Amino acid sequence: MTRDLLCENVSVSEDGQHLLFAGQDTTTLAAQYGTPLYLMDEDRIRNCCRAYKTAVVAAFDGNAQVLYASKASSFKRIYEIMREEGMGVDVVSVGEMYTALKAGFPMSQAYFHSNNKTDADIAFAMEHGIGYFVVDNEEELFAIEREAAARGIRQSVLLRITPGIDPHTFEAVSTGKVDSKFGFAIETGAAEDILLKALAMPHVDIAGLHCHVGSQVFDAEVFLLTADVMLTFIAEMQTRHGFTTKLFDIGGGFGVRYLPSDPILDLHGCIAEIGDFMKTKAAALGITLPKISFEPGRSIVADAGMTLYTVGNVKCIPDFINYVSVDGGMTDNIRYALYTAPYTLFQANAMNHPHDMTCTVVGRCCESGDIIQPDVKLPSNIGRGDVVAVLTTGAYHYSMASNYNRLTRPPIVMLANGESYVAVRRETIDDLIALDVE
Ligand SMILES: *Cc1c(COP(=O)(O)O)cnc(C)c1O
Repeated sequence: MTRDLLCENVSVSEDGQHLLFAGQDTTTLAAQYGTPLYLMDEDRIRNCCRAYKTAVVAAFDGNAQVLYASKASSFKRIYEIMREEGMGVDVVSVGEMYTALKAGFPMSQAYFHSNNKTDADIAFAMEHGIGYFVVDNEEELFAIEREAAARGIRQSVLLRITPGIDPHTFEAVSTGKVDSKFGFAIETGAAEDILLKALAMPHVDIAGLHCHVGSQVFDAEVFLLTADVMLTFIAEMQTRHGFTTKLFDIGGGFGVRYLPSDPILDLHGCIAEIGDFMKTKAAALGITLPKISFEPGRSIVADAGMTLYTVGNVKCIPDFINYVSVDGGMTDNIRYALYTAPYTLFQANAMNHPHDMTCTVVGRCCESGDIIQPDVKLPSNIGRGDVVAVLTTGAYHYSMASNYNRLTRPPIVMLANGESYVAVRRETIDDLIALDVE
């Protein structure tokens, strides 16, 4: 039986029975650590970081950097890995910043995003020497100027620009259109207006411009359209106001495979194409190409992750539907409920059985929408105690997890060099009541 297992770190044991992840037997890991369980392949994460860095160095003659958008998966160990790999990071809250700080991540390499940074957030970030604020709105810019003046510093910022590109992906994850809640639109004049305001501020240093247009992008097209609009704007601001953009962050959004039908992203080729386009465009506009940042989140960690569950019951309603209930659900994977996100699933302890029963895999929450995936194929004799694996769960799973129904969140077990270790321990029922005042 040959199946598309989506990523090179997924395979099957020699006897054909068990699903392997990063070369390790998932059924053994499920027995050792319990389920539900998040697995993360550390070697894959490191390889993804290196692939990005190699690609951008080649495409931009070294004048480029890669930031990991850490909202995709945020826990101490991941920031240590990012530091070791020489990556920058995006953070979107005091919580992410604090986690990075506690992991020893250098704050000078951190970029603080968010469309609503409170005064307390801004003060915390400056207190800890954040490298850059990515300014989303005017109120924030004034608050940064005030706080920086009070501290007698000059704070580096990027301005978040909305280039007006619709990436034709899910509405909920499209952020580059003019009606987006994020950033300053070029079309409406808001982008130029904020640039002038920021230029007039003595305690703000505009290091450059930022934009981020989409998600699950598999080819260069969206980035070329974005670069075209942004570089044109950069050239205009130079001509009209003498403003030189030193750094241009073109965002993240590169695609990963959730299904065999998803294309394989040619990362190196895609970034090379973006590089060629930008160099040509900058030359045509008569500007020096700024330093370029990419900030992928999903594509650094998604296929480095897998979730394991244990089946509790199978409910067959003849002529209607077959339900397979697992011991996790929307608390550890909200993405089907949120975006009807697709997934590939296997019975990890019976890879050699035909996966021929159409079923809907559901969680254990008191919510009909608590669905991991409808209409998937699993073996018809699947039952209590069997292990189900959901692939490509490294991004936006643990970071979106909740305690609905007072379920405890799964641990994160890292797989590296043929060994495994706990990076985030399993939550306990005592953790759940830890905040309840006596
Ligand atoms: C979420 C986000 C990213 C990362 O997007 P991915 O699709 O995970 O690569 C990058 N930049 C910004 C501003 C974001 O909000």
